[in-house]
Amino acid sequence: MCEFCHKHGEGEKWYLQAKNYSEDLLSDLRRRKFIADLSSHPEDVATSLAKAERLEHLPAFVRSVLTPYLSNRQKRIHFGQVLPIEDVERIFGFVTSITRFACICRHVTLGTEQRYCYGVSMAPQGGKLEQLIRSIEPSYLMGPDRAGLEALGREEALTSLREHEKEGLCHTVWTFITPFIGGICNCDLSDCAAMRSTVTYRMPVMFRAEYVAEVNADFCNGCRKCMSVCQFGSISYSAAQKKVLIDPRRCYGCGICRASCVKDAIILRDRSTVPVAATIW
Ligand code: SF4
Ligand code: SF4
Repeated sequence: MCEFCHKHGEGEKWYLQAKNYSEDLLSDLRRRKFIADLSSHPEDVATSLAKAERLEHLPAFVRSVLTPYLSNRQKRIHFGQVLPIEDVERIFGFVTSITRFACICRHVTLGTEQRYCYGVSMAPQGGKLEQLIRSIEPSYLMGPDRAGLEALGREEALTSLREHEKEGLCHTVWTFITPFIGGICNCDLSDCAAMRSTVTYRMPVMFRAEYVAEVNADFCNGCRKCMSVCQFGSISYSAAQKKVLIDPRRCYGCGICRASCVKDAIILRDRSTVPVAATIW
């Protein structure tokens, strides 16, 4: 279990606790201001990413002090975790509204509208979170297709997330002043600020999943399709065995490789049962 499970989940997965999606948490004025600022100033995402990139180029001893300090600060404000589709399905099973909208990261990094983010709420019609965003009318939600916020049913949303998985996108869940959870994103290393900060610039703003992938060599035919979709460089190919291998110390547990494998050769194991990966977040 990651540290959020201990702090905000009473030893269970923190993002499966309904209390962390509570409408009451949105009465907090500091939280409302954070969401309003983030929504109305998407350019701040680019500023944060540029800072993470600068950090990457600092001397190692400076990094070793600054990185945990900045990452811990981020944990209190806006932090994420990778999660596989089955846990997305569990979340969709208890929230009462799901709203799709344009991704802030893609707006900033690509300059295009890409509808990969899903607001989740325990209230019907998006509750206070949607009211807050509508009251701001962020410019990034008014991209070329002008669809704004789209209310989706559970099955429709899940189908959409499964399609994102086939595109190779990694599901992540996000806090807005921790522990309040307001959304699920579908990330890509090339255009997601959080993944770039965490993986490319080694400034973590999200945890790995509570899982680790494993290959059943008996089923693997060595096609390497899974290697091509893993965004974390966790999979290698053994020419001698004509099979792939997953390094559990590098695996983020997203399950995207599993979705790509037509031989059903990949499973996700609970991270706590894989000793070499159990404490790597
Ligand atoms: S996609 Fe499946 S069968 Fe192909 S290499 Fe990966 S694990 Fe093996
Ligand atoms: S090996 Fe699979 S589960 Fe692990 S990070 Fe890569 S795609 Fe995700």
